[in-house]
Amino acid sequence: MTPERFEKIRQVLARRQPTLTVLMDEVNKPHNLSAILRTCDAVGVLQAHAVPPEHGSLPTFSATSGSAEKWVPVRSHDTAVSAVNALRAGGFQVLATHLSQRSVDYRSVDYTRPTCVLLGAEKWGVSDEAARVADANIVIPMLGMVQSLNVSVAAATILFEAQRQRLAAGLYESPQLEIAELARLTFEWGYPDLAPLYRERGEAYPALSETGQVLSAASTPVIASTPVR
Ligand code: SAM
Repeated sequence: MTPERFEKIRQVLARRQPTLTVLMDEVNKPHNLSAILRTCDAVGVLQAHAVPPEHGSLPTFSATSGSAEKWVPVRSHDTAVSAVNALRAGGFQVLATHLSQRSVDYRSVDYTRPTCVLLGAEKWGVSDEAARVADANIVIPMLGMVQSLNVSVAAATILFEAQRQRLAAGLYESPQLEIAELARLTFEWGYPDLAPLYRERGEAYPALSETGQVLSAASTPVIASTPVR
């Protein structure tokens, strides 16, 4: 890894927002999934969530992503309702993008709180049940002839409002990840071929120098290779 690459990785991880995420409810078109992940990367989402279409597998990523899926892992869930409940139990407010009696303008919400934006598939949208268990329903006002936006466009509109609010609140100014997590991810992003070998052997990652070079085994300290909980 070059020192420049190392610096870039450090800067990007320092701005990652573990308290901002999306839940894609059966978003079935690969180009939409990929475009959403590309936006997630741009606003600093650490990890995305998805319910695979009809409980199959997640759609394969398309060329639109600019390889964003490498930088934003997607955690799979069985159902939207179980995912919403798990995220709420983890302290996230879940905002369903859904037109209902209780829908509010997406700009009226506080995105500096731990937030998950729930997005639906092109054909079906977010299910009524998932929208009901969400903390709030949000909409982007539509003033034209067509009733809805493409899901990736809606995701970008909302996530960049979240970024705007978080920038204003200073949430990108200091790392939101714990030091051990930053070190772990820095190694995994910088050395994607080496990291799995350490994990397979159940070993901690080696420490890195100030310019991102792997220090010898005799050097201390090492980096825990398991996620911080
Ligand atoms: N027929 C679907 C329905 O009735 O919900 C339309 C789904 S829309 C094409 C796909 C997804 O994009 C929605 O589930 C939602 O996540 C998002 N979306 C589209 N337009 C939106 C808007 N104006 N406000 C909020 N979310 C929107």
